[in-house]
Amino acid sequence: MTLGNLSLYLYCMNTQYERIAELIAKMKQDNPEVVSLFLDQKLDDAALVAHLREHFSVVMQQHYPKAWAYYTREEETEQDYYKLMSTSMAYLRIMDYLDHEGESFEDGNLHGQKVVSKPISLLRSLLLGRKCSCTVDFVEDMAHLLALLNGVEEREIPPRSRVLEWMERHPSGLDQDVIAWRAQNKEHIVQLLIERIENQKKPGALYRFKEGMTAAEKRKQVLLWWKDDRFHLHFAIRNADDLNRYLDCSMDEKTLGIMHEAEQKGIPIFATPYFLSLIDTRPLERQQHPHSDEAIRSYLFYSRDLVEEFGSIVAWEKEDIAKPGEPNAAGWLLPSHNVHRRYPNVAIFIPDTMGRACGGLCSYCQRMYDFQAGRFNFELEKLRPKKSWKDQLELNMEYFRNDPYLWDILITGGDAFMSSVSSLKTILDAVLVMARQKIEDNKARSLDEQYAPMRRVRLGTKIPVYLPQRVTTELAQVLADFKKKAAEVGIDQCVVQTHVSSAMEVTPETKKAVRRLLDAGWAVTNQEVFTVAASRRGHSAKLRKVLNDIGVLPYYNFSVKGFKENRELFATNARSTQEQVEESSNGQIAQRYHATIRTFMQDAEKMVEQIDSIRKGDEIPFISPDRNTLNLPGVGKSNTYRTIGITEDGRRILRFEFDHTRPHSKVIEDMGHVIVIESKSIAHYLNQLAEMGEDVSEYATIWGYSAGSLEPRSPVFEGMTK
Ligand code: SF4
Repeated sequence: MTLGNLSLYLYCMNTQYERIAELIAKMKQDNPEVVSLFLDQKLDDAALVAHLREHFSVVMQQHYPKAWAYYTREEETEQDYYKLMSTSMAYLRIMDYLDHEGESFEDGNLHGQKVVSKPISLLRSLLLGRKCSCTVDFVEDMAHLLALLNGVEEREIPPRSRVLEWMERHPSGLDQDVIAWRAQNKEHIVQLLIERIENQKKPGALYRFKEGMTAAEKRKQVLLWWKDDRFHLHFAIRNADDLNRYLDCSMDEKTLGIMHEAEQKGIPIFATPYFLSLIDTRPLERQQHPHSDEAIRSYLFYSRDLVEEFGSIVAWEKEDIAKPGEPNAAGWLLPSHNVHRRYPNVAIFIPDTMGRACGGLCSYCQRMYDFQAGRFNFELEKLRPKKSWKDQLELNMEYFRNDPYLWDILITGGDAFMSSVSSLKTILDAVLVMARQKIEDNKARSLDEQYAPMRRVRLGTKIPVYLPQRVTTELAQVLADFKKKAAEVGIDQCVVQTHVSSAMEVTPETKKAVRRLLDAGWAVTNQEVFTVAASRRGHSAKLRKVLNDIGVLPYYNFSVKGFKENRELFATNARSTQEQVEESSNGQIAQRYHATIRTFMQDAEKMVEQIDSIRKGDEIPFISPDRNTLNLPGVGKSNTYRTIGITEDGRRILRFEFDHTRPHSKVIEDMGHVIVIESKSIAHYLNQLAEMGEDVSEYATIWGYSAGSLEPRSPVFEGMTK
C-alpha cells in the first residue's frame, strides 16, 4: 500500500467509525427501550432472541393486530398488505429476523457461498462495544428499523402534486429542446459515417457514394440512408474507441477503460448510429436537465462488476436450461431449445432466425450468460436462418398444437423484429395454421377433454427503442394481415411488447413506429426495466405518462434480475415497492372503468383515445396498469415478499412467494417460496442516487418498505379472454 492509499484507507476507516458512532447514538435516542434489552448482559444471545420474540409478540398482538395476523399468515391478502404501515411492517420484519437468526443462505452474488443472517447478535456486539464484522450499511438499516419500531419514522404518502413535480424533472424524447440537441448529435454522426463510407476499402461495398458526388450530396445521401434500418445495422458500432468517437469523445476515462476491458474480455459492443444519437454528449454543466439520459447510458455502458463477472456469470433463469428428454426447472418437457416455458398457458418461442439477435445489447441482458458461453453473438450474417429452420418451426408448432393448456405464444429472441419481414410472416402463418388445427382437433374431443384454443399472440421487441426505422410499412402490413386472419381462429389479442425504461427513449421515430403498430391493430404494451437511473423519483411515472400519450399500455415494471454482474444497475426491492405504493398508485384505474378497459386491446387503433378517456374521466395524470415485480428464478413474476434476514454488509434477504393469482405447474406449487439475497444494501443504492444528483431525503420512507404484495393483473390485459 502506498502512503497515499494508506491515508485514504485510514480516512475511510475513520469516517466509517464516526458514522457508526452517530448511528448508535441515533438508536439510543430513537428506541431506548429496545436498546436496553440488547444491553442486558444477563442474557446470552439465544436467550436474548427468545426474550425479544416474546416481547415483540406481546406488543404486536396488543397494539398491531393486523401486523400480527399478517405475520402468522392468518390474513395475508393484498388488502391485508395495504393495511400495514411502516411500524407494522417493522414489527413483521423484526419477528422474521428473529425467526431466522443464525440461518445460513446460499448467496448467488458470491457464487453460492453461504452467508449467515444474524442481525440480533451483530447488533448486540455493536451496542456492547465488542468486535463486530458488520458494515456501516448494516448498521444504518438496523438503526432505521429501531426507529420504525418506535414509530419515529412513520411513512407519509406524498401527495399527487409532489409526484407531478417529480415527473416534471424528467424530460421526454418528444420535447423540442431534446429533439434539437439530438439533431446536432445526428449531424456529428452523419459526418463520421460519410468518412467511413469514403474510406471503405472493400470493392462492391453495400453503401457507396456515386463518383463525383459533392459533400452536400453525400450528406443528403446518408440522411436518406438514415431512414433505412439495414444501414444502421450495417454501420453499428462494435468497439470502445468508435463508441467514444461517435459520442463526440465525451466518454470519461473510467467508462472508456471499462469498455476497453469489456472488449478484451469478449463482451460484444453493438450500438446503432440512431441509438447513439440519443446520448447527450454535452458536459453536464451545459445540459438543461443533467443526467436525463442516465437510464439509457446505464444499459449502453458496462459496469466494472459485469466485466469482472463475465466468464463466471451464473444463470438466473434456471428454467431456461433444459436437457433433452428432461423436464425444465418448472417441470415442463420442451420440444427444443426454441421453446421456454414457466406457466401452463404461455410459452416463449425463439425462432432460429435473425430474431435471436437484438438491435443493441443491454448491459443487464440475462443472455450475457449465453454470450459468455459463446452461444450468442452479433455476427448478423451468420445469424441468417439456416434452411432447416422451417422444419424446426413445424416441430415447435406441433408442441403448441398438442398441449392441452397452451393458448398464449410469446415470440421473442433476442428480438422478434430482428427477423426479416418474410421470416416473421412465415412464423405468423405457422401460428395461424397451428391455431386452426387446435380448433379442428377439438371437434373430435368431448367437451371436457378439449384443449385450450389459441387466444393471444405476442411479439417481444426493443426495436422501437434501438431501431424504430425497422417498423416499416411492409412489416406493419404483415402484422395487419395477421390480425385480420387471427380473429377467425379465435386469437383476440395481438400484442407487441416493448422494453422502454425512460421517457427519453421515446422519440418522434419511436412514436411513428408505435403508431404503425397500432394502426395494424396490434396493441403495444411496455415492460420497463427498473434500473437505478430509472428508479429516480417520478421517472417511471413520467415514462407511463409519455407512453400513454403515444398509445402504449405499461405492463410490467421489472426489477433488474441477476447476481453481482448486475449489481450496479439493481434498484433494491424496497424502492420498487415504494414506487408502487407512492408513485404508481397515482395512475390506478378506478373500478368503475374495469369493464370498459377490457375491450381496449381489441381496438388497438383507438388506443390513444381510449387511454385519454380514462385519464380525463378519472382526472389522473397517467394510467398504470403495470405491476412492479421481479422475475424469480424458475418461478416467474412476483412482488409478494417479506424481508427475513440481512447480511453483515447490509444486503436484505427476501423470501418471495410465487404469484398465486395465476396457474403454475405442480413443481412450482410444491416449491413454495424462493429466497433472494439482494446484490446491494439500501445505503449503497442511495449513494448511487446521490451521485446522480438526487436529494436522498426524498427517498427517506424507503427504509420502511420491507414487504411487498404483487398487484392484481389489470383487466385491460385480461380482455375478453377467460
Ligand atoms: S432487448 Fe432484451 S434480449 Fe435484447 S439485449 Fe436487451 S435485454 Fe437482451
